Amino acid sequence: MPRRKLGQHFLIRGSILERIAAAACPARQDLVVEIGPGRGALTEKLLKRAARVVAVEVDPRLVERLQIKFAAEPRLEIVCADVLETDLAQWGRATIAGNLPYYIASPILEKALLLNPPRAVFLIQKEVAERLVARPGERAYGYLTVRTALFADARLLFEVKPAAFHPPPKVDSAVVLLEPRTRDPGLPDRDAFLRFVAQCFRQKRKTLRNNLAGLYGKELVDAWPEASLRAEQVSLEGFAEMFRRLATLS
Ligand code: SAM
Repeated sequence: MPRRKLGQHFLIRGSILERIAAAACPARQDLVVEIGPGRGALTEKLLKRAARVVAVEVDPRLVERLQIKFAAEPRLEIVCADVLETDLAQWGRATIAGNLPYYIASPILEKALLLNPPRAVFLIQKEVAERLVARPGERAYGYLTVRTALFADARLLFEVKPAAFHPPPKVDSAVVLLEPRTRDPGLPDRDAFLRFVAQCFRQKRKTLRNNLAGLYGKELVDAWPEASLRAEQVSLEGFAEMFRRLATLS
């Protein structure tokens, strides 16, 4: 892939790099897996706060540059690979951090959430960050919000303007913190649950009755107190309640 397509916007503002590293490692960490280290600006800050850093970078030219820059640093492992094809669990339980390549932020987030890391801190497009932390009824609330809430408690920590990068991206950015969910929603078949939620959001403007009647029958869905709501008004717990109701039928 050409380099300009790899989302290479390097963070140049030291204070922002410091804040991201501090969010990822509020106390000294054993291991941080960094996604997309680029020229190693964040890597350098993470190494000050973690015993070991594994950095996964897809661009071989940047990997070469990192190998030179960190030649004297035995605590850093540089992996030249596509993060989406890398088993991130191979290094054991670790904090995950990175200034993500925005074109694949969503699949990276999905992959990271499935690992259930003790802590994950990502710099992503502000618009995506808002979707992760939205509440029911808010404009940004959608499938991505519910999928995230199923695995993690997400918080938007702070926003980052394009001027903090070189070259500057066209969009505003934000740093998000993901921590394991404090309350277990008690949904053993998460894949089936997410398929159900996707169905609820199939046509965002339509009611649950409209989105679900074809699949489960009008009579059944009509009897639900939520039938005339739209998916964007329903919390994770609300979806879980409906899903459990369906499970008792089968
Ligand atoms: N961490 C650096 C910084 O803050 O300055 C660079 C961040 S830049 C937004 C994203 C980085 O992810 C680039 O270095 C890019 O080459 C790398 N990247 C893009 N696609 C990737 C992939 N599929 N796997 C691993 N790294 C990738």
